[in-house]
Amino acid sequence: VNIVGGCCGTTPDHIRAVAAAVKDLPPRPRPGHDVRHTAPDTAGGSQTAPPSPRADDSDELRRLHAGAASGRDGDGLHGFSRYSGLEPLVLRPDANFQMIGERTNVTGSKRFARLVLAGDWTGAAQVAADQVRGGANILDVNMDEGMLDSEAAMTTFLHYIATEPEIARVPIMIDSSKWSVIEAGLKCVQGKAIVNSISLKEGEADFLAKARTIRRYGAAMVVMAFDERGQADTVERKVAICQRAYRLLIEQAGVAAEDIVFDPNVLAIATGLEEHADYGCNFIEATRQIKATCPGVKISGGISNLSFSFRGNDVVREAIHSAFLFHAIRAGLDMGIVNAGQLIVYEDIPADLLEHVEDIIFNRRADATERMVVYAEQVKGAGSKRTTDLAWRTGSVESRLAHALVHGVVDYIETDTEEARAKYGRPLSVIEGPLMDGMKVVGDLFGAGKMFLPQVVKSARAMKRAVAHLEPFMEAERASRAAGAGSARTQGRVLLATVKGDVHDIGKNIVGVVLGCNNYEVIDLGVMVHCDRILQEARERDVDIVGLSGLITPSLDEMVFVAQEMKRRDVSLPLLIGGATTSRQHTAVKIAPEYGQPVVHVPDASRVVDVVSHLLSREHRAAFDASNQADQQRLRDQYGTRREKPLLSYADARANRLRLPFDDDTIAVPAFTGARHVDVDLAELVPYIDWTFFFAAWELKGRFPAILDHPQHGPAARELHLHATQLLERIVNGKLVRARGVYGFWPATSDADDLVLYEPGFDREGRVGRRPIVARFPMLRQQEVIADAKPNRSLADFVAPAESGLVDYVGAFALTAGLGADELAQRFEAEHDDYSAIIVKALADRLAEAFAEYLHARVRREWGYAADEPVDQDALLAEQYRGIRPAYGYPACPDHSEKVRLFDLLGARRIGMDLTESGAMTPPASVSGLYFAHPQAKYFNIQRVGLDQIEDYARRKGMPLAEVERWLRPVLAYEPQLTPA
Ligand code: SAH
Repeated sequence: VNIVGGCCGTTPDHIRAVAAAVKDLPPRPRPGHDVRHTAPDTAGGSQTAPPSPRADDSDELRRLHAGAASGRDGDGLHGFSRYSGLEPLVLRPDANFQMIGERTNVTGSKRFARLVLAGDWTGAAQVAADQVRGGANILDVNMDEGMLDSEAAMTTFLHYIATEPEIARVPIMIDSSKWSVIEAGLKCVQGKAIVNSISLKEGEADFLAKARTIRRYGAAMVVMAFDERGQADTVERKVAICQRAYRLLIEQAGVAAEDIVFDPNVLAIATGLEEHADYGCNFIEATRQIKATCPGVKISGGISNLSFSFRGNDVVREAIHSAFLFHAIRAGLDMGIVNAGQLIVYEDIPADLLEHVEDIIFNRRADATERMVVYAEQVKGAGSKRTTDLAWRTGSVESRLAHALVHGVVDYIETDTEEARAKYGRPLSVIEGPLMDGMKVVGDLFGAGKMFLPQVVKSARAMKRAVAHLEPFMEAERASRAAGAGSARTQGRVLLATVKGDVHDIGKNIVGVVLGCNNYEVIDLGVMVHCDRILQEARERDVDIVGLSGLITPSLDEMVFVAQEMKRRDVSLPLLIGGATTSRQHTAVKIAPEYGQPVVHVPDASRVVDVVSHLLSREHRAAFDASNQADQQRLRDQYGTRREKPLLSYADARANRLRLPFDDDTIAVPAFTGARHVDVDLAELVPYIDWTFFFAAWELKGRFPAILDHPQHGPAARELHLHATQLLERIVNGKLVRARGVYGFWPATSDADDLVLYEPGFDREGRVGRRPIVARFPMLRQQEVIADAKPNRSLADFVAPAESGLVDYVGAFALTAGLGADELAQRFEAEHDDYSAIIVKALADRLAEAFAEYLHARVRREWGYAADEPVDQDALLAEQYRGIRPAYGYPACPDHSEKVRLFDLLGARRIGMDLTESGAMTPPASVSGLYFAHPQAKYFNIQRVGLDQIEDYARRKGMPLAEVERWLRPVLAYEPQLTPA
């Protein structure tokens, strides 16, 4: 008898034919009916007569079923399993084979995963619709992906397809290895679903509790042939486990036999391992016996596992599946997870291919696998182009580990590491052997410019997971002192710290991960680390190199101080300098001369390995140091002979100020005065994100979105973008971080170079002159001689002077999108996932900047002058609009310490923001500044200022000269008098 297991081809018509073909199957023999005569010849194989279940066993099970059934519904429909979507699906005992659509599974379908991860629910639903159209009678939905909030994804997707009658008509199989995801699915699915799966893996209590819950939800359940000892691969174990589960479910959990679907484990055949050769016939035989001894149940299986070894050869795979289904269905298989669009009709399988295929399914000859492999090469023709991504799973454990590391795949890392541990004996040998070898490949590819930072950090995550898996074993070895256990040899120990008063650490963290990947031991002291602690830890932990990081200008001084202290304490370790405001010039001119040992500026993380390896190499250190010193001497010489523009006197600079027109056209009146709080939903900020800067944080340079198609790092950028958007979605939907801000408007005038802000309100003459002053912001003024008779600017020029008698306005803001970000990042770090931790921090920064852009747009509207501003997002991100928001610490107002006054004005501490001793904002993902609305307000750079201006500024600011000089050191045009600290 030739019957069809499905159909080939991918056009809709062909797919529809699958359903028709399967529905046209002749009725199957009833359970218990002897069909063994139809099984192919097993002579010569290792197949032995299956042990029949003990007679009393099967009798007892049959009684159990009869009793349970009659006591329950008495409708006479024993053996009828019923599931439903919008339409019922009733499986009579002799029903035809049911196809369970497998493409709506993020672990099995790359395409579906991509759609789900991108939040493209319409596209994802389309996959489901295609499955149903392709003949799927049941839809398997699986959202088990590391980067997904699987509970949320399951819920959203089920909600989504519930509104599509074409899809929702079929029952859903809620598939997850996480119980919480199953429950999330059970809570929102309509009709009668099937849970996939539960098992005795965690023992009876857990099994029964889950089964009872599923029963209460009114669902059916797939039970895997899996127990406390593991997955069943022999006929005996498969049958015994299912019988045990059957008894437990019926007797103790009150589950109807008809609601049980056993999955006796379809396992890969033709793997080349002797013990796998019988897996195909074991499944078929177990199906027969379970059906015969557990009345009422259904049998299912994940069919594509079977042909795992032939990944990439779809011709052979389809033939294996169709042939297997043909036989398994006759043995009692009721349903299977299959790709409905990819089955060949059994009778269309060419005779010699079929012979080879059935040889491996039934293990009919000792050389079946070899012959199949040879044969498969021949048929690997035009039809087999659908290559798959999992081919790498078939290699040696070393090659699998290398693949996982190079591609940063963590899905199998524990299993593979465990396999390697078994093979190598000692955990340390795994680290120093295959893991180090894999990381070396990563290092080489990175060095050759074939891998990029985000990919390396992802690799590091895989490495860390592997090491974390081995850690307890190494601990055990150490405890028993059995084998003189040690820890892995590293290339050297590097201490990293963000200096006192500074909080930014994205770059430093990336540097740490990159070093770790290259087998350096990294001691990261975190942020805001005092000099004392840095040097103490460096000594106690015997490090080889110290690296300092900083973002804001006051950190430059702190680095100089650390260098001085290192010299004073006779430290001789090389010193690395990195971070946004650091430069080769500053390192050469200000830091290196203070120390006398190698001081190296590391401009970006991709350079660090090169620098560190040279510094720690006996061979190369001298030459490297000499060339670094020569470079630095050259920079110092250049600095000494630089021709700087001459300075005007401060008085002349003021006389050359910018004179703007102030009238009704240029002074805008805001909708309110005083400060207001603003809480904003993160989702509102997402459109304002400027992704270009996100990639810059990962040293992927180029404009977004063009960067996604960049000839070299386009693929790396695309992958990073995907992961970042997934994580962003999780953060936004789960409200994992919070954004809060405070902003306001104040009546204001300029008084010489001060901005004067008044308490809201006016006096009787409509003037602010006698109102109490709430804040006075001293501003700096450009003092260099400027060509073309251009003015010497100050931010004070953008506000109407007091003597004009006009009332002008100034705005101010402080905001953060980082509340909770550090905690979230720490959670990832605790899971050895620096990759996600760094993404979180970079995203929080982006959200803060997006918030600033969003709030500025709102402010311009509330200021009443931007009602008809174009809403072009690119123009917005390019700040092509009227008004500016200068931020303290930036070129027009470089004095970080003025943030204290700004925070006081706004009451910013009340929304959870604060300042460090260097004027860095916390949380790190924060932005603050002033708003100016004058149509001619533009950003500019103060450049350098003279002592006469600084003296005046110190007086206006009410701060000792020496202290002001410390804050403004980067803009001083003179060498300040050194005052003893
Ligand atoms: N869109 C960017 C952020 C803009 S950076 C992002 O997503 O990261 C530009 C901001 O820096 C301005 O809005 C202003 O707040 C500040 N800024 C730029 N130039 C400045 C200058 N000369 N003086 C003061 N602040 C400046």
